Amino acid sequence: MGRISIAFPVFNGNEKKYLNECIDSGWISANGRFVEEFENKFAELCGCKYAVACSNGTVSLHLILVALGIGEGDEVIMPDLTYIATANAVRYCGAVPIFVDSDKNSFNIDVTKVEEKITKHTKAIMPVHLYGLPAQMDEIVRIADKYNLLIIEDAAEAHAAKYKNQTVGSFGNAASFSFFGNKVITCGEGGMVTTNDSNLYKRLKLLRGQAVSPDKKYWHIDVGYNYRMTNMQAAVGLAQLENIEWHLKERKRVASLYTKYLGNKKDYVLMQMVPEDCESVYWMSNVILQDKVKLERDEVMSRMEAHDIEMRPVFYPMHIMPPYYDESVVAPNAEYIAKRGISLPSHASLKEEDVEYICNCLLEIICEEK
Ligand SMILES: *Cc1c(COP(=O)(O)O)cnc(C)c1O
Repeated sequence: MGRISIAFPVFNGNEKKYLNECIDSGWISANGRFVEEFENKFAELCGCKYAVACSNGTVSLHLILVALGIGEGDEVIMPDLTYIATANAVRYCGAVPIFVDSDKNSFNIDVTKVEEKITKHTKAIMPVHLYGLPAQMDEIVRIADKYNLLIIEDAAEAHAAKYKNQTVGSFGNAASFSFFGNKVITCGEGGMVTTNDSNLYKRLKLLRGQAVSPDKKYWHIDVGYNYRMTNMQAAVGLAQLENIEWHLKERKRVASLYTKYLGNKKDYVLMQMVPEDCESVYWMSNVILQDKVKLERDEVMSRMEAHDIEMRPVFYPMHIMPPYYDESVVAPNAEYIAKRGISLPSHASLKEEDVEYICNCLLEIICEEK
């Protein structure tokens, strides 16, 4: 058995065919048929009216914030435990990310701790559907309505995940997705904004393309950005999207295999808990090492690496890292998850024997008694 990697993209549809079409036709930049087709199909997947493709999932977040007018001194509430892009996008605008602790079981933002963070500067809540699992959107929508706040979903890891049968990306003013190589579906680098707001949609499109006037070439009506997606990215993205049901099914299969092999070792490892009202897309399967495990997390990971199995720590809390360091943030659950959490290899091409091998190695390392 060769090295088992944490993530691996699978291209088993029209990816090559569509890419060749780009090259043969010369439509390699942001014009060409695939960008719009990808957008339309993606909007449909999310049950949204509009989608705007971007170069990656960080700039799609930034584009939303700019288009919604978030700026200097505004506060945006988000989970402390997330990927750095969520916070960076807010910082790019001169706004301030406000970090909220996680729920210990689901890893997602603890919605009971959101209201206490609201000030007169708060403009938006940015829930993250962490590792493919939807945040508790009912409560977020209720709070946003009560305090008149915007909702921006960071759905980078959660394509087609559902909360109470509603697809993520359709809950707030806008949502952002990523198609980086390790995400649920990929186009190498890529991002997408979804929204139901037609004015916001127009503003997003304008700002994405240097704010060029729709009817006068080289005339720019605002300070825009080049955040466009290329036709080549969209070609791959569209082909992946055509097969998304397969990708989702395979990820779910892998996740249930982890439950099968680790689910009865709850004294040693707990998986990220999926609440009843959520359908996760299992971007990554994670375990939290329990008190019975005497080894440090990093030691467990390096012993797994010795078996040629790639492991990742779960994300670090934002408030402990240099750009966002803030001792006043109270987030014991985020710190606990980050200290004890490991992301396991999670991709569609893992076979049952791979998962069984990974779990056997892990249990051998962490369970003292044999
Ligand atoms: C991947 C990711 C992003 C950003 O995506 P890129 O396409 O890598 O820029 C944003 N937020 C979260 C939570 C992510 O996991």
